[in-house]
Amino acid sequence: MQQLHSEVLVVGAGQAGAQLALSLRMGGFTGTVTLIGAEPDLPYERPPLSKEYLVGDRPAERLAFRPAEFWTQRSIRLMLGQSVTAVDARRHEVTLASGATHRYGRLVWAAGGAPRALGVPGDILDGVYAIRTRADVDRLRAGLAEVQRVAIVGAGYIGLEAAPALLKLGKQVSVLESHDRVLARVSGPQISRFYAAEHRAHGVDLQQSVRIQGLEGRDGRVTHIRFADGRPDLACQAVVVAIGIEPAVAPLQAAGARCSNGVEVDGFCQTSLADVFAIGDCANHVNRYADGARLRLESVQNAIEQAKVVANVLLGKPQPYDALPWFWSNQYDLKLQTAGLSAGHDDTVLRGDPADRSFSVLYLRQGRVIAIDCVNAPREFVQGKAAVQCGLRARPAQLADANLPLKTLVDAATQ
Ligand SMILES: Cc1cc2nc3c(=O)[nH]c(=O)nc-3n(C[C@H](O)[C@H](O)[C@H](O)COP(=O)(O)OP(=O)(O)OC[C@H]3O[C@@H](n4cnc5c(N)ncnc54)[C@H](O)[C@@H]3O)c2cc1C
Repeated sequence: MQQLHSEVLVVGAGQAGAQLALSLRMGGFTGTVTLIGAEPDLPYERPPLSKEYLVGDRPAERLAFRPAEFWTQRSIRLMLGQSVTAVDARRHEVTLASGATHRYGRLVWAAGGAPRALGVPGDILDGVYAIRTRADVDRLRAGLAEVQRVAIVGAGYIGLEAAPALLKLGKQVSVLESHDRVLARVSGPQISRFYAAEHRAHGVDLQQSVRIQGLEGRDGRVTHIRFADGRPDLACQAVVVAIGIEPAVAPLQAAGARCSNGVEVDGFCQTSLADVFAIGDCANHVNRYADGARLRLESVQNAIEQAKVVANVLLGKPQPYDALPWFWSNQYDLKLQTAGLSAGHDDTVLRGDPADRSFSVLYLRQGRVIAIDCVNAPREFVQGKAAVQCGLRARPAQLADANLPLKTLVDAATQ
């Protein structure tokens, strides 16, 4: 069998991998480009999975970024339903699960991550689901018919988006969070309180500071959650585990790439292995908006921007990663938009009144705006991005005055 060779070989045909191939062709790259993806689907977007797709408001065909012919017309080879199991960086070669090998000029690792397991007895019973892939959501939807109550473990974005969707599907919903507040990893207490109240008002049984001991079942199927903190057992016929991902980097790590919480990359998304890059959810990078700390970002913005960084390197016009992190989450009729990274803030300023269901929270460190959360406030979000980007400093009373547009303060600070 003739060995395949690609000038650019991308492992992972998700948000980041697809964007990289696209950006290369848009930038005039004429070499061979191959995307190897473990899932059988054409590259598709994940955000609708916990939103419209879970509810059934968006069909599977409308998840794909582009139709099949788009990739063919641009000579982007898709090898779908195939996994890379090993990397030989010295030989510039990967091995697939089938045993086939594929040589590369440059390798771009865009493999995302796999849902973290609950890690308690019973977590592999039937009726336990994740929400990472289209197939995950298809399984969940197919298993819902006989289900009265779904327990969602994890009150991060995905768990909290799944809750309204499952309510809409007529299910009773419990959300179980180990932390003492929802969205604890990404937002401050004001946002947590607001969203906790919203979910409760919609009928979600939200329980915080929970310790799960195990899942109980009958005939191999989950029937209860047992707690380690004295709470009564929770009867449920389905459990959605939404407690984050483990970055999918095992083959790269085995090949010698420096890894810690994902694969470490430099400002150009280059790993410690020659001619090997990493982008998207699996890439542990230094981020200027985290005060130069290393982190992984799990967002569409990050996947797209890092793909563009690598495309520019491969096109011979390198520019380091410097993009402002931003994110969104849809729950009920609420659109949460976030810019910057709030971790490490030492002060917050509330703009507007949460009772109006349109407000924002500024996060400050040493007097500088480092992040903003906006609820149903799109204009504030646009102006807030500029405030984060310039590290706005202003008097707290000015920042808190919702009648004073952030733009006015940004303009005054940047003139
Ligand atoms: C349910 C859900 C909702 C989300 N909502 C939002 C949102 O509202 N806003 C937002 O900004 N972000 C959202 N995100 C996050 C966003 O979708 C991700 O950050 C983005 O998809 C990351 O892109 P990626 O290419 O790094 O990884 P992925 O899109 O996960 O793609 C990685 C691909 O690599 C494949 N792969 C893994 N290992 C191998 C291997 N060894 N060989 C071959 N292929 C492999 C995987 O199967 C996968 O298809 C959401 C994510 C999920 C799961």
